[in-house]
Amino acid sequence: MTDLTFFAESLKSDSCEVLLNSPMSRHTSFKVGGCADIVAVPKTEKALHDVISKAKENNIDFIVIGNGSNLLVKDCGLNCLVIKTTGMDNAIVVENDSIKCSAGTSLTRLCLVAYENSLTGLEFAYGIPGTVGGAVFMNAGAYGGEIKDVLTGVTHITPEGSIITEAAENLSLSYRHSFYSDNPDYIISGAEFRLQKGNKEDIKAKMDDLMGRRKDKQPLEYPSAGSTFKRPEGHFAGALIEQCGLKGFNIRGAEVSEKHAGFVINKDKADASAIFELMKHIQETVKKETGVTLEPEVRIIP
Ligand SMILES: Cc1cc2nc3c(=O)[nH]c(=O)nc-3n(C[C@H](O)[C@H](O)[C@H](O)COP(=O)(O)OP(=O)(O)OC[C@H]3O[C@@H](n4cnc5c(N)ncnc54)[C@H](O)[C@@H]3O)c2cc1C
Repeated sequence: MTDLTFFAESLKSDSCEVLLNSPMSRHTSFKVGGCADIVAVPKTEKALHDVISKAKENNIDFIVIGNGSNLLVKDCGLNCLVIKTTGMDNAIVVENDSIKCSAGTSLTRLCLVAYENSLTGLEFAYGIPGTVGGAVFMNAGAYGGEIKDVLTGVTHITPEGSIITEAAENLSLSYRHSFYSDNPDYIISGAEFRLQKGNKEDIKAKMDDLMGRRKDKQPLEYPSAGSTFKRPEGHFAGALIEQCGLKGFNIRGAEVSEKHAGFVINKDKADASAIFELMKHIQETVKKETGVTLEPEVRIIP
């Protein structure tokens, strides 16, 4: 047994699943990426804390991911431990107009719980295919709403291993940015949201409307990571890319979506290098033709 498989064995328990040499294409919505040495899927906040402590004790590098819906993992894979939080989706507590949940809770589930409790404010997030941890990290948003509007606090594990709850106002939340994007060694384990009492039918109608708009406008039938680039000040990335005639432009199976130019899709068995090359081509073309710099929204790893 190598040191790494020995370490992987030590992580296994009823509250933590462990996979060895696991292709990241199975853990990301782009469906690309080479193998990770170890993928650990803790099922509780305590198990998450234990995995992180053991990794640190053994000097094993690690990265924490949610549902992998905003990641481009390179074809060379990840020589490290990947901690995937999607197993931590079982702790949701609703108290009056507040909802507390684990980092691994899917946004869709959170939105449905809000709806079932006639709480309004999260409808914008319905259909974003990430976890609460990933959504806080990214300050995810859509249709005029963002996580910042409803988040009151985040529980995180500090680099020293303490578990602390921090008020949302101290987390530098701005457009697709948070304290966590600047400090990736802080790991989000849970979050708390404040919503408002609303009318259940109105909440459902808004969620259905926004989901319908996603289906109409976005290429949901293909693997992608959502909007590839951030919205540049005063512009829309998709409109600029379309204006440059790049709709349908394809590199080895990676394509600028015909349906929505803001999405790079994995049209036909692309690998990560094809997606990466296409992103570079888009950035260079848009810069040359319009003078605007496009910054990736997708997180490129490593
Ligand atoms: C079809 C489609 C539509 C989308 N629509 C939208 C949209 O409307 N709006 C929008 O904002 N985004 C959208 N996205 C992008 C994506 O879903 C969001 O960014 C989402 O918030 C990412 O969550 P995740 O759990 O998948 O995070 P991941 O992609 O797994 O991770 C994203 C980043 O967060 C970090 N991270 C994740 N969990 C933790 C944690 N617990 N602690 C510390 N760091 C963590 C990761 O290391 C990584 O850097 C879309 C994606 C797709 C595929």
